[in-house]
Amino acid sequence: MGLVVVGSIAFDAIKTPFGERERALGGAAVHFSLAASYFTDVRVVGPVGDDFGEDEYAVLHRHGVVTEDIEHVPGGKTFFYACEYEWNLNIRHSLDTQLGVFENFQPKLSDASKQAETLFLANIQPDLQREVREQCGAKLAGLDSMNFWIESARESLERTIATVDIVLMNDDEVRMLTEQPTLLKAARQIMAMGPSVVVVKQGEYGAALFTKDGFFSIPAFPLETVIDPTGAGDSFAGGLLGYLDAHGGATDDVTLRRAMAYGSAVASRWVEEFGCERAATLTHEEIDERFEAFRLMSVIEGVTTA
Ligand code: AMP
Repeated sequence: MGLVVVGSIAFDAIKTPFGERERALGGAAVHFSLAASYFTDVRVVGPVGDDFGEDEYAVLHRHGVVTEDIEHVPGGKTFFYACEYEWNLNIRHSLDTQLGVFENFQPKLSDASKQAETLFLANIQPDLQREVREQCGAKLAGLDSMNFWIESARESLERTIATVDIVLMNDDEVRMLTEQPTLLKAARQIMAMGPSVVVVKQGEYGAALFTKDGFFSIPAFPLETVIDPTGAGDSFAGGLLGYLDAHGGATDDVTLRRAMAYGSAVASRWVEEFGCERAATLTHEEIDERFEAFRLMSVIEGVTTA
């Protein structure tokens, strides 16, 4: 058991119709590791600058996330991302992306991270994802990416996808990557690159799971109020991979379905507050409660024909 994640560690400027934050702790690896920490032991890999201080480390430490592999670059600036959401929260406009310390980052994993059983390559430059994959012998590896990297580093991304078992991406991004109109064709094309599992995140419509011999779909939880969707995708991935790691990296149909429901349960909690602020109060019981609500929500009684 043990999960290692590489990805952006960031400060985010976020504006939604319900408020804003100028400098919220964020980044794909931060959202992911906090979410996964509800299920398993997590180590996070990535660089930060001088602006990343004790308060930020404390958020991770309070969740037991091991930060030994966070590299502090003297004089550097932490990754920065700014975005704004429309009234329809499915529409996010990226306003600014400053790579900062990621620009010259060369990942070097500690021995403990190299031995992790599960690896997640959260959203970041695909060359860096691959460098981490090459150093880590994890028997189960997953990956996320986004339009920014599909546009600027497609070839590298495809090479990285070939090295993992599970790909998790947004529906728009899956279509953009494969240039296929339907998700089924797109998922098959991604599986032909190497992975055996494709999870397509569909925002407020939930998520779909494609494997070589099956399909499963889960809705998003119908929330009365969503404050900020930032990190929904990463916390979903954290719940999903965290659950799989806690179950020996199993990828049978039953375990994958439960992992999808746990990912959805965590994500539905994450969006109740800005950035990763919800993690400060979130309990495992609240996640389990949501899991049960998902289970009940999706049951269909069969019809008996005489
Ligand atoms: P999501 O789960 O898709 O809402 O991811 C949100 C997180 O992704 C934010 O906290 C950002 O810091 C991070 N992010 C945004 N753009 C990028 C990028 N190009 N590369 C890596 N991380 C990013």
